[in-house]
Amino acid sequence: MERYSIHGIFLGTGTSQGVPVIGCHCAVCESSDPRDSRLRTAFYLDVNGVHFVIDTGCDFRQQMLAHKIESLDALLITHEHKDHLAGLDDIRPFNFMRMQPMPIFAEKRVADAIRREFSYVFSDHPYPGVPMMDIHEITEQAFDYKGIKIQPLRVKHLELPIFGYRVGQFAYITDASSISDETMKLLENVEVLVINALRFKPHYSHFCVAQALEIIEKIKPKQAYLTHCSHDIGLYVETSRGLPENVHLAYDGLTIEL
Ligand SMILES: [Zn+2]
Ligand SMILES: [Zn+2]
Repeated sequence: MERYSIHGIFLGTGTSQGVPVIGCHCAVCESSDPRDSRLRTAFYLDVNGVHFVIDTGCDFRQQMLAHKIESLDALLITHEHKDHLAGLDDIRPFNFMRMQPMPIFAEKRVADAIRREFSYVFSDHPYPGVPMMDIHEITEQAFDYKGIKIQPLRVKHLELPIFGYRVGQFAYITDASSISDETMKLLENVEVLVINALRFKPHYSHFCVAQALEIIEKIKPKQAYLTHCSHDIGLYVETSRGLPENVHLAYDGLTIEL
C-alpha cells in the first residue's frame, strides 16, 4: 500500500442528531467542555495536497467555516442517510471559487439518491446558481483521483451496504455494524483507523464501544479513533480515560498527521 503525507481534521464526530440533542439535559448535552459537543460526522482529508471531505451532512457549511476550509477537490460519500448528505447544496461557494463542478465519489445507489434528493441540480433547465455536481459512480474497486489511490471499504450499516475509505496508511469507517473478512483483509497494515462507536450499550445498526475495540484489536493500527458518538458515549474526559492506550475518543476539531 502507498504511503502518503496525510493531514486530517475531524469536522464532526456526532451521531445523526448531533450532541447536544435538542431538549436533552444530560451531563454530556449540558457539558461546557467543547469536546462534548459533536456536529454530524464528517472528515477532512488532505492527501499529498489533494483535499477531500468525507460526507456532507447538515453541518457541512458550519464545518467549512469553522476550519477555514477554502480548497476542496472532491467529496467521498459513505452513504445516503441525511446526516451524511443533507449539506450537499453548500458546495456552491467551492463551485463559484473555481467555476467548476464538484467531483463526488459515491456508489450507484447513493448517486441515485443524490440525483433524486437534489433533483433541481439535474433538471433540464436548472435554476441559475444551483450547485454543480460531477458524480462519479464507484464500485468496490480501488480508484485513482489526482494520483491518489482510494480503496472503498465495503461495510454493512445493519443491512445497508455502505462504504468506508482507505487511503494509504489511513482508513475511515463510519456507521458500520459489521465488517466482512474480505474488508478486514483490505485493512491490513493500516496505521491510523477511524471507526464508529455510538455508545457503550449495543445498538442494532452501529458498533458500540466494545465492538469497535474488538475490530481495533484485530486490525492492530498504531492509533485508532472512535467517531459517530451519541450523548450516551459519556463525558470526553471520563470515557477517554477508560480506553486502551492507542485508542482515542475523537472530538470535533481534532487533527491527525501521518
Ligand atoms: Zn450516520
Ligand atoms: Zn443528552
